[in-house]
Amino acid sequence: MEPKDSTANDAFKGFTNSECPFYPCHQGVKRDFNCLFCYCPLNAYDCPGPFKAFTSKNGVRRKDCSACTLPHDGYTQSWAFIQKWLAQPVLWDGGEQTRPWPRDNEDPKE
Ligand code: SF4
Repeated sequence: MEPKDSTANDAFKGFTNSECPFYPCHQGVKRDFNCLFCYCPLNAYDCPGPFKAFTSKNGVRRKDCSACTLPHDGYTQSWAFIQKWLAQPVLWDGGEQTRPWPRDNEDPKE
């Protein structure tokens, strides 16, 4: 298999499943809707997304990510965003989001 960084073909970075019964599951996506990260890889980690923290009926802290478009907005853009935040993952402590996106002078993908 060809290493990802040796190809100019970006097709592995995303796709849109417009036949999904939940599509479009998040509002506000302006570029190609990326379904690749349907279950966000950052769910268990700190992230800059605008999630709302809540406690499930089983007493587990969870994120409600309904308002987040970061893993979905553009194939290459959402791919770069996920790669950046998984490069040095920090486990989420179950707390509220205190630094939601957008932040001044920061790009979530760089
Ligand atoms: S807020 Fe966004 S980036 Fe964070 S875990 Fe949820 S979907 Fe992923």
